[in-house]
Amino acid sequence: MESKQERPAAVGKAGRLVAAAALGALNEEYYQDLANAKAEGRPVVWITSMAPIEMVYAFDGVPFFPENYAALCSSRKVASEFCQVAETRGYSQDLCSYALCMFGSIFENRGAFGDDPVSAPDILLATEGACSTHPKWWEALQRHFNCPLIIVDAAYTVDSESLSEHHKNYLSARLRELAYSMEKYTGKKFDEAKLREVVALSDQASALWDEIDDFRKAAPTPISQIDVFTCLFPLVTLKGTKNAVTFYEQLRNEVRARVEQGIGFVAEERFRLIWDLFPVYHNMRLLNYFAEFGAAFVTDLYGNAFSGRLVASDPFGSLAERYLSFFMRSASWGKAEIYKKRAREYKVDGIVFHSNRCCRCFTAEQPDVGNILREKLGLPSLMFEGNMVDPRGYDDAQVKARIESFMEMLEARKYPK
Ligand code: SF4
Repeated sequence: MESKQERPAAVGKAGRLVAAAALGALNEEYYQDLANAKAEGRPVVWITSMAPIEMVYAFDGVPFFPENYAALCSSRKVASEFCQVAETRGYSQDLCSYALCMFGSIFENRGAFGDDPVSAPDILLATEGACSTHPKWWEALQRHFNCPLIIVDAAYTVDSESLSEHHKNYLSARLRELAYSMEKYTGKKFDEAKLREVVALSDQASALWDEIDDFRKAAPTPISQIDVFTCLFPLVTLKGTKNAVTFYEQLRNEVRARVEQGIGFVAEERFRLIWDLFPVYHNMRLLNYFAEFGAAFVTDLYGNAFSGRLVASDPFGSLAERYLSFFMRSASWGKAEIYKKRAREYKVDGIVFHSNRCCRCFTAEQPDVGNILREKLGLPSLMFEGNMVDPRGYDDAQVKARIESFMEMLEARKYPK
């Protein structure tokens, strides 16, 4: 393989998406809303991923995702400090670094932007539907903030194929109970027509995201993995609002135009890769290091975890189905099946696993998934260790050396001399 200096100049990258750059304004507006919520009589609801955000918007609340905020703290290089503050209060460094970072920020009464902490919760809303860590984390938040805590019980299913009517009906009933609890704690009457509107907007945002995801099949692939991760913010936090739909329409149009014009993120794409799973928020540029070898990430499952189609005429039933179909609930063979399908459809050459050491739930299965993909499709993989939020223990030089070896191996396989 050529040395780094000798590699083709083919690896130039397309510029940043215009829509992605517009995210700044959307972010600013959201944090302004969050800061003004209490004065405007809107409840601030701290929410876990895979809890039904649509219910928060149906009560005119402002949702806040500590996980998303910890990611922001990490990209703003303040997460490690917050994690260490939490450790001095007795929280182990082995815990999820989203939780550690958020606790540190709370104890320090500071946030991602400096001295301003985020608005305290009026309600805490959690589910164990995504991760068993969440209810315990939210219990600790409840002890700190002394405000109502609602935990939505989600039936355990091994994968979406084994999802039965019974599971859906069970969660649907829990969501109806949630509406009563929200009435009690917000003092607002539940309005099902409003929930239907929110669900329709949430569905539109997901449909647009799925379209964008589909465009990534194009060769060259039109959008970078950094843009994919960055553009997730509205799908996570603003799903169920018009702002999210407007943003994804603009993004879809821009990505479609790139595909029509044959513009790729990597100008002369030589390798197509899958990214699994969490971003490395403190070093997002690592993703672009692959582009130096002509490699582009063309699919991932993390981004798609936040998308899911809904039916406005059946808000509770479709919300139940959507949140139970979350792919991360699948066992390793279920996840491998999804990747096998994607590997064929997106024509991939390899898979990169970020072994995110603070997230036992979703790293334990990565070696199994890698083995299945190698055995069934001959797909080579690279696994490197890191921590999504906290840079301590992450060795950039070592990771890059492993990437170089991986790319050399891919080069020899795909372009033998
Ligand atoms: S799934 Fe992993 S990263 Fe997410 S909250 Fe649970 S432990 Fe943390």
